[in-house]
Amino acid sequence: MRILVVEDETRMAALIRQGLEEESHAVDVVGNGTDVLHWVQSTDYDVILLDIMLPEKDGITVCRELRAAGYTVPVLMLTARDTLTDKVKGLDSGADDYLVKPFAIQELTARVRALGRREAPGKTAELIVNDLTLDTATKRAKRGDKIIELKAKEYALLETLMRHPYQVLSRQQIIERVWDMDYDSESKLIEVYIHWLRKKIDDGHDEKLIQTVHGLGYRIGSHE
Ligand code: CA
Repeated sequence: MRILVVEDETRMAALIRQGLEEESHAVDVVGNGTDVLHWVQSTDYDVILLDIMLPEKDGITVCRELRAAGYTVPVLMLTARDTLTDKVKGLDSGADDYLVKPFAIQELTARVRALGRREAPGKTAELIVNDLTLDTATKRAKRGDKIIELKAKEYALLETLMRHPYQVLSRQQIIERVWDMDYDSESKLIEVYIHWLRKKIDDGHDEKLIQTVHGLGYRIGSHE
């Protein structure tokens, strides 16, 4: 698995990296909370290990931002604090699991394996709209019998639409779920990604599933 470790204490980060690499994981380490969204945008991580106490931006804020941007990647929170409030805050921010320092590296790697296996909570494995299926585990779509490979943002956009089948989603609703805080609302990114998705999903089919609702936004599914 590809794992992002967000930890500012270099010795701790090195220990975690070593433990994960010994289990054949690919590991990226980032030392502050501010850069996490950028890393996640450019790389499709299977699990994120997120320390709560970080310079500039704490782990709970980072986790909230990840979820607000539509990322469902499993997050394991790491913290030196073990008060109930911190745990509740961490889980409320969208973290999937929680590990208190100090911990045995074997426990960390076991939790990472478990997170990699299971779906993020509240997410079903498959979303279905008409003859289109999206597997949220493999991140692959299938229309009829044809398997469709998706890039990360194409997947995020399609998943957002398919979680609200037959409903119109405004540009703002889509931006909040798919892109980060720096998204320029004047940009044409949505249009560009809708265009690419249409090529993959609708080309060659009489029934077009991705629909533009002029002045309102976009909708997936031609009928219920
Ligand atoms: Ca720290």
